[in-house]
Amino acid sequence: MYDNPDGVMIGLEVHVQLNKLKTKVFCGCVTDYHNDPPNSHVCPVCLGLPGSMPVINKKAVEAAIKIGLALNCKVEEHTQFYRKNYYYPDLPKGFQITQYDFPISSGGYVMIEGEDGELRVGITRAHMEEDPGRLVHEGTIDKSKYTLIDYNRSGMALIEIVSDPDMRSPKEARRYLDKLRNIVGYLDVFDGNLEGAMRVDANISIMGGQRAEIKNISSFKGAERALLFEIVRQKNVLRRGGVVVQETRHFDEAREITLSMRTKEEAHDYRYFPEPDLVPLKISGWAPAIKETLPELPDARRMRFVEQYGIKDDHAKALTSELKLAIFYEDVAKKADPKTAAVWVCDVLKGELNYRDLTVEAFKKEHMLSVLELLAGRKITEDGAVDIIRTLLDKGGSPEEIIKEKGLVIVAGDIVETAALEAIVENPQAAADYQAGKVKALNSLVGVVMKKTKGGADARKVREVLIAILSDGFYPPIEREKIEKTIIKIGDVMVEVSKPIANLLKKMGYV
Ligand code: ZN
Ligand code: MN
Repeated sequence: MYDNPDGVMIGLEVHVQLNKLKTKVFCGCVTDYHNDPPNSHVCPVCLGLPGSMPVINKKAVEAAIKIGLALNCKVEEHTQFYRKNYYYPDLPKGFQITQYDFPISSGGYVMIEGEDGELRVGITRAHMEEDPGRLVHEGTIDKSKYTLIDYNRSGMALIEIVSDPDMRSPKEARRYLDKLRNIVGYLDVFDGNLEGAMRVDANISIMGGQRAEIKNISSFKGAERALLFEIVRQKNVLRRGGVVVQETRHFDEAREITLSMRTKEEAHDYRYFPEPDLVPLKISGWAPAIKETLPELPDARRMRFVEQYGIKDDHAKALTSELKLAIFYEDVAKKADPKTAAVWVCDVLKGELNYRDLTVEAFKKEHMLSVLELLAGRKITEDGAVDIIRTLLDKGGSPEEIIKEKGLVIVAGDIVETAALEAIVENPQAAADYQAGKVKALNSLVGVVMKKTKGGADARKVREVLIAILSDGFYPPIEREKIEKTIIKIGDVMVEVSKPIANLLKKMGYV
């Protein structure tokens, strides 16, 4: 049982930008502004000019329902927009259109891996709102002499997902965020790689004290760091006999600290009232129809992968962490051995992709299939396969071309083993010397094997096989104590090998 020594309570408010919708939430401005100059995707509505009127984007409502359902929320029959009044240049009309009473969905949950097993994180609500403009400060927010404003982002559809304060450590918060991105990513409503796709506000209190709200954290790593900082800061305040005040703090990504911005406002400070320019929305009957269109979600897919393909849960979890990766794996697993495919896609390919900051789209399924086929046919070694995958990612080409170019056509493992045995039998003195502690004696044996395999073998593999035969007495390496050893006489030299190797040598006619 995780006893939460600091009494940490964390609740997160995550803003998901529906950047895959074609247009903004209350106007017709197109949403693909990310590579365009500032203030080039704007109109009277999203600039908040007097007299302009919002019109709701039906696709945004559908996406909101999708997200609500995927988070196990209850989707309401009626929903209503509100004005949240505040004066700030990111919304020139003086208020944000958001939801208050009657949010589109509420009362859901997400399962995450907690400090002590599965943890259910409650979802208080997931409501719709408009994104404000983006403020750009020169240098740091507290030192900048002026503020630049880009309204391209203003009026983008947002879903604000508010969790219950169920997380007990920064690590759990991080896992919740990863899980949320994972789930929402399956719904094809946002591209998580675009700037500002998911923004986090974090509420944190310790020891039953007041909570601090940390605003506008732009990365998940940032969220974890900000929370770690806050725990230390709040502990220090308490240790000095002080009181943690309820306030809004800003996270400075560069310095990894939080700074006080203002004392926390309360809901009534915003003078919420129903948005008179938008009629209440009747959406009864929408949810069941949309539910039919939901894809198989990460948790369900993960369980199915374990059952259907017999792969390890760790692999299934990693493979379903992203929809594209899950589809890639499944397409490969249908044509290759699913377990081997899981190892190579998960442990090798995913690592190589992460290292290069690439997504799975950078690698062709057919290439994965040929690599697996070459491995299964023992045409290449595992090292060779890794080499091929790396070269494909760095330089392109095809596995066949790379094999030719690098001379990777590799003698099958059993041929290496036979050649190694022959090398030992033909050079028993070198074998005995190695066993007597003369490490360098191995080099001459490696040379013999390389010659026997006409340079086709992988030298590292040859060493591995030779060491295994001479030290453990058997190849592949198995637990030492399970091996019964015997001393055989080759020519005039005594060499210690395992019984299976001795039998093999006998069969081969060497002893
Ligand atoms: Zn607009
Ligand atoms: Mn919000």
